[in-house]
Amino acid sequence: MKRVLLFLVMLMIPMQLEAGTRINMGEFKLTFFCPCEICSEDFGHETSSGKIARSEHTIAVDPAVIDIGSRVLIDGIIYTAEDTGGGVNGDHIDIFVESHEETLRRGVQYTNVWVVRGDEYGE
Ligand SMILES: [Zn+2]
Repeated sequence: MKRVLLFLVMLMIPMQLEAGTRINMGEFKLTFFCPCEICSEDFGHETSSGKIARSEHTIAVDPAVIDIGSRVLIDGIIYTAEDTGGGVNGDHIDIFVESHEETLRRGVQYTNVWVVRGDEYGE
């Protein structure tokens, strides 16, 4: 019986590694920015990492809290940390959206976020 259990455990370990992991980062303040002059400070779709900002993809983070290049799960969407901002400090994420109207509509929110590692949500 012990042998069978050991065999099952050995089978499950690589499956867990492949499934990827989510690291609970706790509650973050979410704000929204768009390519307009006011929100992007004239950077438009340009990000500090050199990537072109895309909606439902690009977020700005405090790199002291979340590494640039990290994938971050927020409300069911996997974003990529590819920008920083003077006003983005600590537990605060600025989410890129295409229109200024959307930044106003979505306002300021607070929600739990996860950093995703591994293949579970591979692009
Ligand atoms: Zn704007």
